[in-house]
Amino acid sequence: MIVMKFGGTSVGSADRIQSVAQVVRANLHRNPVVVVSAHSKVTDMLISLAKRAVRGQVDIDEVRDRHLGILADLGLKPSIVEKLLGELEVLLKGISLVKELTPRTLDYVLSFGERMSVRTVTAAFEKAGLASTAVDAFDLGLITDSSFGSAAPLPEADNIISWNVKRFEKLPVVTGYIGKNKDGDITTLGRNGSDYTAAIIGAACGAEEIQIWSDVDGVCSADPGIVKEAHSIDEMSFDEASELAYYGGRIHPATLVPAVKKEIPIRLKNTWQPDNPGTLIRAKAPVRGIVKSVVYKEDLFMIELLSTRMLQHHGFMARIFEVFSRYGIVIDMIATSEVSVSLTVDSDRNLEPAIRDLESIADVKVEGGKAIVCVVGEGIRNHPGVPAQVFGALHAAGIGVQMISQSAMNINIAFLVNNDQIGPAVRALHSTFFGTPAPAVAEKA
Ligand code: ASP
Ligand code: MG
Repeated sequence: MIVMKFGGTSVGSADRIQSVAQVVRANLHRNPVVVVSAHSKVTDMLISLAKRAVRGQVDIDEVRDRHLGILADLGLKPSIVEKLLGELEVLLKGISLVKELTPRTLDYVLSFGERMSVRTVTAAFEKAGLASTAVDAFDLGLITDSSFGSAAPLPEADNIISWNVKRFEKLPVVTGYIGKNKDGDITTLGRNGSDYTAAIIGAACGAEEIQIWSDVDGVCSADPGIVKEAHSIDEMSFDEASELAYYGGRIHPATLVPAVKKEIPIRLKNTWQPDNPGTLIRAKAPVRGIVKSVVYKEDLFMIELLSTRMLQHHGFMARIFEVFSRYGIVIDMIATSEVSVSLTVDSDRNLEPAIRDLESIADVKVEGGKAIVCVVGEGIRNHPGVPAQVFGALHAAGIGVQMISQSAMNINIAFLVNNDQIGPAVRALHSTFFGTPAPAVAEKA
């Protein structure tokens, strides 16, 4: 058995849903369970509908049009989603009367996206001759805790799901993203939670493979917009995929934990190129080569804190981190010396008040327009010369580096440059590790 999860864009129009039907048909021999997201944009629409309802406005036209438009394009009847649209409207009217939107009610509103899309997708499958059944994940046994907005499955969910899955005679098409708590209230697993649903179901059933289908290829050796010769990566470990996730990787690794625990391979596939094997992620992937991917994240802020008071003192870091945590600022990279701490953050939200507070403990300097460039690969661990190769290549390309970070896990080397050095740095490193032509030194990003 395999799990095939299709994201919002893959089920975002009639054409796309029809291609998904072809892809599923080609995999019927592997006994798939299909998991789908809401049609693209619908979850955002539902959030704004709920917020407007609190202010007394109820108007579901946009959501209705989106769904009825797709159904019409598929040559299917509006009745497939009409009952749910009616229920959604009643719910929003209720919110507009009580003028209150609790996390529980918001999850109930958001659930309509996936509940409608599975019904539409199932009807399209049937029309294409694929016998299938629409299934709400909670009817499959996806019971969760009551953390509305970021619910997690209860331990007993596994057995119930694996038992229920076997009962379907037709191909089950299951809602991503949603579950129910023990009181019967609908919960959601967090934004982009359909990957999590796929992992939960795959792990519960001991699937052969969990496939995450979207509209892009698997993971690449570099941004193809920067390195023309970038290739897609056939296999990577879960640790490598987790490191890459920060740099806009295709999946949120936390959502794949259930699968990784049971050592179920996860395959990232492109709905538009179903024959391309995509990228396989496994708990333990064979270490091939040194570096798997050269990635970057731009538009960061570098903060430098300088204080002689930190010399040999304990508690100094704690005071710094306390400020960032109080303002809800996420820190990305850190480098320290005896008298200075440098760190990066990826937005200037709350940065001003935080800096003011930090100024009472250190001299503070902030600089924007920075980028982290990072090489990732388990092979780095077994090749002691990699840092020399990385910094040698950067030096040869005339690129100055501002912060350096390599953790003890030793599967990545990251450093900070100015935004306009991203292109030259990524090309220099890609050519070092994959032998693509060296870039011109003076070239800009
Ligand atoms: N529809 C949900 C979202 O947009 C879940 C998902 O797409 O995975 O966040
Ligand atoms: Mg997604």
